[in-house]
Amino acid sequence: MSNPEQESFRDSIGTINEEGKRAWIFPKKPSGKFYKYRKWVSYALLIFLFAAPFIKINGNQFLLFNVLERKFNIFGFPFWPQDFHLFVISMIIGVVFITLFTVAFGRIFCGWICPQTIFMEMVFRRIEYWIEGDRGKQIRLKKQKWDKEKIRKRLTKWILFYIVSFFIANIFLAYLIGSDNLLKYIYEGPVNHIGTFISLIIFSIVFYFIFAWFREQVCVIACPYGRLQGVLLDKKSVVVAYDYKRGEKEKGRAKFKKNEDREASGKGDCIDCAQCVHVCPTGIDIRNGTQLECVNCTACIDACDAMMEKVDLPKGLIRYASEENIVEDKKFKFSLRMKAYTTVLFLLIGVLITMLTLRSDVEARVLRLPGQLYEHKENNIISNVYTYKLVNKTNKTIENVHFALLSHDGKIHWVTKESFDVPKQELVEGTLFIELPATILEDDKERVKIGVYSDDDLIETTKVTFLGPRSYR
Ligand code: SF4
Ligand code: SF4
Repeated sequence: MSNPEQESFRDSIGTINEEGKRAWIFPKKPSGKFYKYRKWVSYALLIFLFAAPFIKINGNQFLLFNVLERKFNIFGFPFWPQDFHLFVISMIIGVVFITLFTVAFGRIFCGWICPQTIFMEMVFRRIEYWIEGDRGKQIRLKKQKWDKEKIRKRLTKWILFYIVSFFIANIFLAYLIGSDNLLKYIYEGPVNHIGTFISLIIFSIVFYFIFAWFREQVCVIACPYGRLQGVLLDKKSVVVAYDYKRGEKEKGRAKFKKNEDREASGKGDCIDCAQCVHVCPTGIDIRNGTQLECVNCTACIDACDAMMEKVDLPKGLIRYASEENIVEDKKFKFSLRMKAYTTVLFLLIGVLITMLTLRSDVEARVLRLPGQLYEHKENNIISNVYTYKLVNKTNKTIENVHFALLSHDGKIHWVTKESFDVPKQELVEGTLFIELPATILEDDKERVKIGVYSDDDLIETTKVTFLGPRSYR
């Protein structure tokens, strides 16, 4: 498309009209193969989203993002501030994952997995279809004066929208403060937790605003991932695309006439029925080419396939394809590049899973007390002082914890008691002395290995630097 007139659709977005006002979208209810698959994927994801805060693994909430108390559980693994490196690596993997995935498969995430699309298209939009009917009826209702029918339908819809928003806000809160706390607060009543209750109402109003009014504008205007498409997509990226070569041919698109020989007429296979436009939840015409508004929801694929079936032309005029597939008239193939990207993605996921499973339940950190050298004691004993921190990331108390030297024949002395318990999800800190005979020191900076034991079980090891006099080398 190089003609500036043909490109004029890029000057505005589908949700804003020529006067700069909101153009309300009334998408036709989709139906077809892809919509059916998307429904199943959505049900699975919705069940997961609602169940995840209530699933426990070893007593840990499956997913928890308690920002205020800095407690994070991912897949049942509690993350402490000490695990920040893992968090950073997960974030980097996430960014690489999304980038690679988008370069190869376009905006597939938006259409199939994004919670905004799932809630909007599979929950709120379906409530709307149920109450107000399909596109035509919704348009009529909008134009209709505020009579009994309109008031009844609109009120029912808004009340139901608010109830669902309130429910989503509760789930959202379960991710933030933990499902146990949420259930406790519900049981004890909002009056006893007024601050949390106000937050809940604010969240539900925000969700209501998004799904009742802001809607597709989240994807079109607000979503940063949507904005990135321009730099991530190229001619090889697979997106929902209109096969303009087949759709336009020499004479362009044209209405279908009964019994015409479409092939011989030179007209394109697009019968200009506008069904792909009517089903589009972001109000665009995919025949204009890939656009930032397109969330790859596949509704236009289903709509066009249904029309192609009716006029006995091959399906797939709109389909998952790259620009290259269309220009070179090739079928979608799992290319070498995609195979390579997919391999990288699986490797990254493998690295993350390995790191998560290798992560120890207990983390010991023993550090030399800043500014202290060493003490030369009686019987040629050298003593160094250290502080220790022990984090118990599990949901069980670790009992009878004590330290022992693994690499040297020496002693450890505690400032307080020799063994202690570390309560679940808690941190214990204190001070200890390591004493070594000067005669066994080979260096003035010796690496000493310490074992952390719970009763007789070695649960963690760590290394410290032990300072001694130079003359004993
Ligand atoms: S153009 Fe098609 S795939 Fe893109 S948002 Fe509209 S209906 Fe969905
Ligand atoms: S649904 Fe298919 S045939 Fe109808 S206007 Fe869209 S691309 Fe053309």
